[in-house]
Amino acid sequence: MRHILLIFSVFLCALSANAQEYDEYFIDKTLRVDYIFSGGNESQSIALDQLNQLPLWAGRRHNLPEVLRGGNGQIKMMDAQSGKCIYADAFSTLFQEWQTTDEAKTVRKSFENSYLLPYPKSKVVIEVSLRNKHGEYISAIKHTVDPTDILIKKAGLEHVPAYTAIHQGGTIDKCVNVAIIAEGYTADEMKKFREHAAVACQAILAHSPFNTMKEKFNFYAVETVSENSGVSVPRENKWQKTVFGSHFDTFYSDRYLTTTNVKDIHNAIAGIPYAHIIILANTDVYGGGGIFNAYTLTTTGHPNFKPVVVHEFGHSFAGLADEYYYENDTFSDTYPLTVEPWEPNITTLTNFFAKWKNMLLPDTPIPTDIKSAGQYKVGVYEGAGYSSKGIYRPAVDCRMKTNTCKDFCPVCQRAIEQLVKFYTE
Ligand SMILES: [Zn+2]
Repeated sequence: MRHILLIFSVFLCALSANAQEYDEYFIDKTLRVDYIFSGGNESQSIALDQLNQLPLWAGRRHNLPEVLRGGNGQIKMMDAQSGKCIYADAFSTLFQEWQTTDEAKTVRKSFENSYLLPYPKSKVVIEVSLRNKHGEYISAIKHTVDPTDILIKKAGLEHVPAYTAIHQGGTIDKCVNVAIIAEGYTADEMKKFREHAAVACQAILAHSPFNTMKEKFNFYAVETVSENSGVSVPRENKWQKTVFGSHFDTFYSDRYLTTTNVKDIHNAIAGIPYAHIIILANTDVYGGGGIFNAYTLTTTGHPNFKPVVVHEFGHSFAGLADEYYYENDTFSDTYPLTVEPWEPNITTLTNFFAKWKNMLLPDTPIPTDIKSAGQYKVGVYEGAGYSSKGIYRPAVDCRMKTNTCKDFCPVCQRAIEQLVKFYTE
């Protein structure tokens, strides 16, 4: 009995430590920081664009100064007086994907990026670092923010779009909060959008381990209205007036659907409790994209809507890599073979120990011959991350590899579960 009491009191301490830690440095609002990232294939720089205050905080209240998954970039907030790191987060960007394309060899481009931080009580220093080709995080901007600065724009207090909770696992402060937002749906199509949002939410929560952690998620359907129905398809010279200006043919890849209007997204949903974003595009053209801690964007009219939205959420929420590969790739240099990728579900065997080595049966050959797949459910199978050679995946098939596979592989499942716990416990 004493043992149980002791465990219980330690648990209580951990709970109050997290609450104290948050309350010590932050108020219950969001500091949204907008940046412009720019450069070419060899250079990258970041400039501060706009600071915003949002009326509530819907991000994590646990493990505040830590990062579980590295990302292609990181943002850190330090208390200006003590220098102590009080919040950190990781992300990937469309900009860095673009840097690996042929176009980036001949021209410099700029991309919008916005990050949600808990609103500090006192002056803070914010630092953004980007990962280089060698896997090192290099500081790209460092600036001070005074939370009393009158030029921090107050957003989300009015003109908040209609939204409904389509899955409520718990209160905002205890859950991962996901906004599902409409792109290419007119005002008359909102009933259809709400149905699609419910399908997306159910598809995600039907997959393991989400199905065992439903009480840790809130999903909100946000009715952002577009002037035109459908989204832009540049290869067909079809340009639509939509709320987020998304289009296919990103980096000249037919099915890659993205938007570069990141500020429009965040401005549209300011005031809604969200930390993660799923954008549903009203079209039957196949495609989508998911960028870690940026957004998932996917199409709802295609027969593969359900597996694709779950796959893209695997990218944007959990930082999972693509486990598929093909010969003619638009991304010329996504994963250098001398660097261990930060994503948990692929490896170059540069530092496999940090990956899923502890999930292998003791006699599993590394790499594992695909012919032994029946013997080893988890192995080290060659072909992943867009390359048929030198990059390895944990299983023959996975939601991160094909639309026909029903589940995430065991390594992806573990990675998702770890992240949900990191955010909520
Ligand atoms: Zn997997």
